[in-house]
Amino acid sequence: MVNLVTETLNPVELKAFKDAASLRAQIKAWRLDGYVIGFVPTMGALHQGHLDLVRHAKTKGTKTKGVKVVASIFVNPKQFAPTEDLDRYPRQEAKDLMALSSVGCDGVYLPQADRFYPEGFDTKISTGGPSQGLEQDFRPHFFDGVTTVVAKLFLQVAPDFAVFGEKDYQQLMTLKAMVRDLDMPLEIIGYPTVRESDGLALSSRNAYLSPEERAIAPKLYQEMQALREKLLNGNPPQTELEGTKKALLSHGFTSLDYLEICDSQSLKPWQGPHYRPESLRLLAAVWLGKTRLIDNIDLSQAPL
Ligand code: AMP
Repeated sequence: MVNLVTETLNPVELKAFKDAASLRAQIKAWRLDGYVIGFVPTMGALHQGHLDLVRHAKTKGTKTKGVKVVASIFVNPKQFAPTEDLDRYPRQEAKDLMALSSVGCDGVYLPQADRFYPEGFDTKISTGGPSQGLEQDFRPHFFDGVTTVVAKLFLQVAPDFAVFGEKDYQQLMTLKAMVRDLDMPLEIIGYPTVRESDGLALSSRNAYLSPEERAIAPKLYQEMQALREKLLNGNPPQTELEGTKKALLSHGFTSLDYLEICDSQSLKPWQGPHYRPESLRLLAAVWLGKTRLIDNIDLSQAPL
């Protein structure tokens, strides 16, 4: 275990754990002291979106029951296909630890891949329901990798609640379904997408964008907002979806994996005939050069 004390005005002790046994011992001690445990799993290269999840978890303590928040940083090899960006995924552990400390995170779990998945590891959690379609059609390995790592992390950390971003909306709904179906004893809390001032959703992968691509990237969110306005005005969804796809390509996006209107709970594709925005979500995955961006918006709400 490593103790880190930052030089901020309110220094916070962040305890770092590389193995599950020492993490469990600390969590047991916190529980004996009366704390609830909140958990924020990440792949690191932390930005304000991740840090807001930690801040949000910290608000879950009450006067009578304090909260200890544990984040994890683990670039999970099981959710990357061999052709994907596992090797070049940004890694900046020292900076991440300072950032976690600065927002009052109490513990950080840094699993080592060879110990987390030892020789012979051959178990997988596979979900149906909201994990079908969308990402699953383009990254078929992805959700099994996510549900397997998150289930194992939940067993190791044993949190009372875990916070996930709506940025990865299909992932959030899939994990809610997994926890419900398997009676895992914790609450999954969703947190709204944190964006740059031009609307681009914060993502560790934004670091891959060239300056030219970075200028195009916010147009994804802007076009999604414009589409929502047109749909709220009663325009026909299929025609408008096609129009938005063309507009995205004309802005310079390389290709689109999907742009779909789905039920916000089941994530089944909307098929009409009645358009009920209060229960619908617009989800998108697009390519900008070699970078894949995903985003989603609630179709019922006006932009902030
Ligand atoms: P990642 O490190 O990309 O696996 O993300 C870890 C957690 O942070 C997941 O719950 C993500 O949904 C969440 N997250 C990533 N980007 C954002 C964002 N821009 N706003 C809110 N949450 C986010």
